[in-house]
Amino acid sequence: MWSGSKNQFIQRLNQEYSFDSEVGCRYHAPPMSRRLPEFVDPVKLCDTRQTLAGAVPLASMERLGQSLVQGIDQEAEVLLEFGSDEAGIRYVRGSVQAKLELVCQRCMGKMSWSVESQVALGIVRGARDLQFLPDHYEPLEMGDEPLSLTALVEDELILGLPIVAMHEPEICGAKNVIDSLNEQVDKELSKEKPESPFAVLKQLKSKQ
Ligand SMILES: [Zn+2]
Repeated sequence: MWSGSKNQFIQRLNQEYSFDSEVGCRYHAPPMSRRLPEFVDPVKLCDTRQTLAGAVPLASMERLGQSLVQGIDQEAEVLLEFGSDEAGIRYVRGSVQAKLELVCQRCMGKMSWSVESQVALGIVRGARDLQFLPDHYEPLEMGDEPLSLTALVEDELILGLPIVAMHEPEICGAKNVIDSLNEQVDKELSKEKPESPFAVLKQLKSKQ
C-alpha cells in the first residue's frame, strides 16, 4: 500500500511515466534511416575501422532499374563494417537488404521480391593481392578512384534477382487471360467447327 499523500503518489506516477518515456525514446525507437554517401574511401574507412549503416536509394541504378517497377522510391538498407583482419587484409563485411518491386515478365504486374545479401569483400590493389586473397573474400579491386557505394549495392542486388521475375501461376495476373483463352477454345470446339482457328490451337496444345 502507498503510505504517502495523494499528491506525492501522483508526483511519483508522473516521475515514473516521464522516466519510462525517456527510456523508450532512447533505447526502443527504431533508428532513423539515413542516406549513405554515394562515394567512399574504403582504405581510409578500413584503417579507422568505420561502420556504415543507412539507406542507399535505388533510383540512380540503371542496370537494376531495368527490372524494377518505375515511379516508386525504393531503397536498400546497408550495413557495412570496414577493417583489417589478422593477415592485414582490408575487408568490407556486412549485409545489403532490399524489398524490391519487380515487373512480372508474364503479366507485367508488380511483384515483391526480397533480397538479403551477405557481403565479404577483400580489398585488392593488384595481381599480387588477388593471388593471396583467401577464399572467404570476394575481391574488391581498388585503384585511386573512390568506391561507388551505389555500384557496390547495385551489384549485390542484381546477384539476388530471380533469373526471370514471375509470379507464382496461381497469383499471376496472366492466369485470367490464359483461363479465358482456354474457355474460348472449349466453347468454339463444342460448336463443332473443325475449321476454327481455335481447333488448331487446341491441337497444338495437346501435342505439348
Ligand atoms: Zn504475373
